[in-house]
Amino acid sequence: MKYVGAHVSASGGVFNAPINAQKIGAKAFALFTKNQRQWIAKPLDEETISQFKEALERAEILPKHVLPHDSYLINLGHPDAEKRAKSLAAFIDELERCEQLGLDRLNFHPGSHLKLISEDACLELISQSMNEAIKRTKNVKLVIENTAGQGSNLGYKLEHLGYLVDNCIDKERVGVCIDTCHIFTAGYDIRTKEAYEQTMKKFDTIVGFRYLQGMHLNDSKPDLGTRVDRHDSLGKGKIGLEAFSLIMNDKRIDDIPMILETIDESLWSEEIELLYSLIEK
Ligand SMILES: [Zn+2]
Ligand SMILES: [Zn+2]
Repeated sequence: MKYVGAHVSASGGVFNAPINAQKIGAKAFALFTKNQRQWIAKPLDEETISQFKEALERAEILPKHVLPHDSYLINLGHPDAEKRAKSLAAFIDELERCEQLGLDRLNFHPGSHLKLISEDACLELISQSMNEAIKRTKNVKLVIENTAGQGSNLGYKLEHLGYLVDNCIDKERVGVCIDTCHIFTAGYDIRTKEAYEQTMKKFDTIVGFRYLQGMHLNDSKPDLGTRVDRHDSLGKGKIGLEAFSLIMNDKRIDDIPMILETIDESLWSEEIELLYSLIEK
């Protein structure tokens, strides 16, 4: 079964996210559990937590089909030890918020070397931060997102994800999320059946499908291999609908949250319907 939704707004309170998801006919959703542009958030209170859980039940969406996204400020591979520690503390706070909401995974971008250290040194720092976060929290999975590789962001090579998974101290607590726009602009083609199979074979060899815990379904404004991160509405960008049809019919991609982060949210309900219509009976 496929569980498709979008990254919906949680403004006014996290409990609004499942309500917003339900409105667009989503069977999954992503949200920020706090303002993504601020370091500090007030802790979730009991009332908010129970309102969230009730709204989730009413929307008939399972916790495992919710893919919370962490703050953009966090850089687990920050070359500066003090700034890295600040990021780690914020990351742990986000993991705890997920746990309080009864959610089982947190999606994050690996980190950036800021052109101050090598890619390998930065990956090692990210891995250390992840392991520290795992030791200091209970059970939420750390879901690493692949990136377009814009600027000094790591995670644009499948080998980066493979390294972070391989070096994780608890394999039950780690997963990955493939963003279709990011994988494409990072240079992995998915536009035809042959290209898609080749890319997914690489993914399976280097990372492994058993770690796939979420997907971001976005078309792309920039072309293959440009390493620029700009999403587009499905079928309107450089990827095209064939890739999404292949994904929707791929049995290896079942039972995980599949999230639209496309640019025109007024199209989300249509895009969700379109994705389901691509499934071959
Ligand atoms: Zn994404
Ligand atoms: Zn993106």
